[in-house]
Amino acid sequence: MAEQRRGILFVLSGPSGAGKGTVCKALMQRVQNLCLSISVTTRAPRAGEQHGVNYFFQTREQFDQMAARGELLEWAEVYGNCYGTPRSFVEEKLAAGLDVILEIDIQGAMQVKQSYPNGVFIFLIPPSATELEARIRGRGTETPESFRQRFGAAREELAMMRSYDYVVVNDVVERACSRIEAVITAEHCSVERNLFLLNEW
Ligand code: ADP
Ligand code: 5GP
Repeated sequence: MAEQRRGILFVLSGPSGAGKGTVCKALMQRVQNLCLSISVTTRAPRAGEQHGVNYFFQTREQFDQMAARGELLEWAEVYGNCYGTPRSFVEEKLAAGLDVILEIDIQGAMQVKQSYPNGVFIFLIPPSATELEARIRGRGTETPESFRQRFGAAREELAMMRSYDYVVVNDVVERACSRIEAVITAEHCSVERNLFLLNEW
């Protein structure tokens, strides 16, 4: 019963450039009671990125201290930088009955699976490799080296789709959002999450 009244934890992963950030931003406009977790990172901000909006940008030392104090729900090194999810935000929102979405890499998602087995794991993929390349290049944020790292990792990352509950193709942002909204609705209707109704009857 207590479990039902908690929010649901959604985890969104996928290759760099698939459109996770774009889709999450659009989802926040459309879905009520859904909170987006803001990660901590040691990566340098990209042009236009703001501290506390896109990420909490920290030094490696600050990051390590947070990890050592147990303040990160999960963390991983991705493409040479550290990224982690602040624990307190997630726990507070779920306890208040709000859903939370984490936009994190596959290593982090697998850690979350251990601590939140009832979480819902969604894998976002681009329509094709050609389109992925165009999106990473089109974003204009990567050096040739970081482009190679990100695009080069995509094929292997795609195979990890098997460890997720749902796969969503991000062809058009609005359509991808509608599919994720459908997943959110379906999860709220799952029998397992609604067994408390039997007691109420
Ligand atoms: P990720 O967070 O997965 O690395 P982004 O959200 O930064 O990806 O998107 C990568 C690039 O692709 C951005 O320039 C974004 O505007 C673009 N993009 C995202 N989704 C789509 C889409 N459905 N169609 C076309 N371009 C997209
Ligand atoms: P970017 O540098 O493009 O913003 O993110 C690089 C990768 O780090 C993406 O795959 C993104 O999902 C992942 N990432 C962002 N925040 C977190 C986090 O808190 N934890 C983990 N494990 N990965 C994250």
